[in-house]
Amino acid sequence: SSHLGGIQVAPPDAILGLTDAFKADKNPDKMNLSVGVYKDASGQTPILRCVKAAERHLVETEATKGYLPIDGGPDYRDHVRTLVFGSEIDSTRVCVAQTPGGTGGLRQAAAFLADQMGPTRVWIPSPTWANHKAIFASEELPIEEYRYLADDKKSLDAAGMLEDLRTRSKPGDAVLLHACCHNPTGVDPTLSQWKEIASVVSEKRLLPLIDFAYQGFGTGLEEDAKSIAEILSQVDEAFVCSSFSKNFGLYSERVGALSIVSADAKTSVSVQSQMKRLIRCNYSNPPRHGAAVVAAILDDADLTTMWHDELNQMRTRIKDLRERFVTTMKSTGAGHDFSFLLDQNGMFSFSGLNPMQVDELRNEHSIYIVGSGRINVAGMSENKMEQLCGAVAKVIE
Ligand code: PMP
Repeated sequence: SSHLGGIQVAPPDAILGLTDAFKADKNPDKMNLSVGVYKDASGQTPILRCVKAAERHLVETEATKGYLPIDGGPDYRDHVRTLVFGSEIDSTRVCVAQTPGGTGGLRQAAAFLADQMGPTRVWIPSPTWANHKAIFASEELPIEEYRYLADDKKSLDAAGMLEDLRTRSKPGDAVLLHACCHNPTGVDPTLSQWKEIASVVSEKRLLPLIDFAYQGFGTGLEEDAKSIAEILSQVDEAFVCSSFSKNFGLYSERVGALSIVSADAKTSVSVQSQMKRLIRCNYSNPPRHGAAVVAAILDDADLTTMWHDELNQMRTRIKDLRERFVTTMKSTGAGHDFSFLLDQNGMFSFSGLNPMQVDELRNEHSIYIVGSGRINVAGMSENKMEQLCGAVAKVIE
């Protein structure tokens, strides 16, 4: 009998599967608002100029492709720590590992929770990035959901969130929080709501597990890190998973990090050693190129300024697209107010379109959005805005 013959076909990834369908669509006016990738006005996902400059520098100066340390290069790790926690934090309490993307960071965090802490039960927001559940399930961590999006699908159910964490969690549980630009809703807590979240995390002795995949896409690099500072003002332990896929446009280079904050330096040494042990048996050590690009940019004042400018441009362009979408929708006279999109952050928003309308957009208009109604605002374009809004107006009539 066959060893492999009984294996069933796995369902395609809901979002990446749509990209395949999009590629196969012959309509020249097709639009892909599904996958979370930034596009410029010409519809391209460009390589940032600061990245190109850093790569040229690396080609000239890089002297080896020898293995990196298990947790990545020290220069990169210092930069990550400063970006995420600022320069004030006691660096002896923070250990950072370079990981293959934010996903790799989350997966190593999950491995750590499973191997060293329990296994820990993880609270995730409802809804959340679809991969979260799969990642924690892969490490066999028990998963619970807390309320996040209000019934209007436009705002935060802060009371529900706080009540769930206060009444249903138990000390020692981990709570996954999106530091900014919540995926898939674009709905973020305000700073005063972060204070309340931090109080519950502290009161209930929960372990914050913070996903930071969009630093710089909300309000700004430092502003977006304030949620983390708020949490750390009330508790002294946290996990933070960073991704540089979006903010450096380094998607395919797989650059991210897992940072673990401990209460004291002695604990941090043990934590780091276990983190390295877990990485060693997973992918052994991280890829060099993407992290070398990030470090080269952040080592150089001019390249850093260039990066800040390019990141600001991406953020303001997305905000501008939000505004254009809202006003263009108004001008269609479809009578549906989308102005809630203006309060939301980052690439994504919940449009409120139902699965039937989503299907119709795809079948009749070659406009691809995720079944949940999540749209990638960064996939919109100025010159196709009329076309997009016309189609949306038709399906919501
Ligand atoms: N977390 C969230 C919320 C995300 O949206 C993403 C990217 N889609 C990731 C983590 C993973 O990022 P990366 O591509 O760097 O693995």
